Amino acid sequence: MMRLSRTTKVVVLTGAGISAESGIRTFRESGGLWENHKVEDVATWSGFEKDPALVWKFYRQRWEDSNSTKPNAAHYALVEMEHYYAQHFSLVTQNVDGLHSAAGSKNPLEMHGNLNSCFCTTCRAKFKLHDTDPDIAIPLCPKCGAYLRPDIVWFGEIPYFLSEIEHSLKKCDVFIIIGTSGLVYPAAGFVMTAKLMGAKTIAINLEAPDNLSFIDEFHQGKSGEVLPALVKEWTAP
Ligand code: NAD
Repeated sequence: MMRLSRTTKVVVLTGAGISAESGIRTFRESGGLWENHKVEDVATWSGFEKDPALVWKFYRQRWEDSNSTKPNAAHYALVEMEHYYAQHFSLVTQNVDGLHSAAGSKNPLEMHGNLNSCFCTTCRAKFKLHDTDPDIAIPLCPKCGAYLRPDIVWFGEIPYFLSEIEHSLKKCDVFIIIGTSGLVYPAAGFVMTAKLMGAKTIAINLEAPDNLSFIDEFHQGKSGEVLPALVKEWTAP
């Protein structure tokens, strides 16, 4: 049994798999499609240029879906970890569903954005999706009138918080990946950085992730079942 002291510096990276037990489908389970859409149609700037109304319809639906779901045991186990490790804990997520915050995580670094956020394609001002009119196919910027776009980091765009993430990866003792296929970069490469800098690396996933060769300890299974048991072990008195 492994116990981790309160001063162990822990970084966690989550992916779509952690939300699967909340009822949100992962990206890969439908053969590289995202809810039956090709990623280039709904998750690239060129897809948005081609058909902004389709892209808005897609993300509005994803946002409505995520509003009707609840965090699961794995999200709550990460809140417990945050309480236990306090300032030594960082949570990074590739998810855009907002379920970490809904569970009570204080500062998840949402590196791929958030479904409830959008910004102006011209003046870059940010807005909340819940403040836009759902009957308008392509919402317009209240400040300058240009198209708004979902605040989602699309393929080919630079994720948020990369310098903070790199900083915490370089000084962490343990790096844990949960529910991520290890196929989407740069997130898939974080495990290499952490390992090269001397951290112990742990993965919790339904199937072996693509970057398994950089993982010291692999726990195969559903994160909602595996993670709460591990957190109990790691934080045992
Ligand atoms: P992915 O879909 O590529 O991989 C998900 C991984 O989770 C798979 O390896 C699968 O085996 C595993 N998994 C499935 N159910 C699981 C469970 N119950 N417990 C543990 N593991 C489970 O996801 P990714 O690596 O996060 O990359 C997909 C990209 O698509 C991300 O960048 C993300 O922004 C986006 N996306 C987000 C959401 C969301 O916000 N919930 C959903 C779909 C896609």
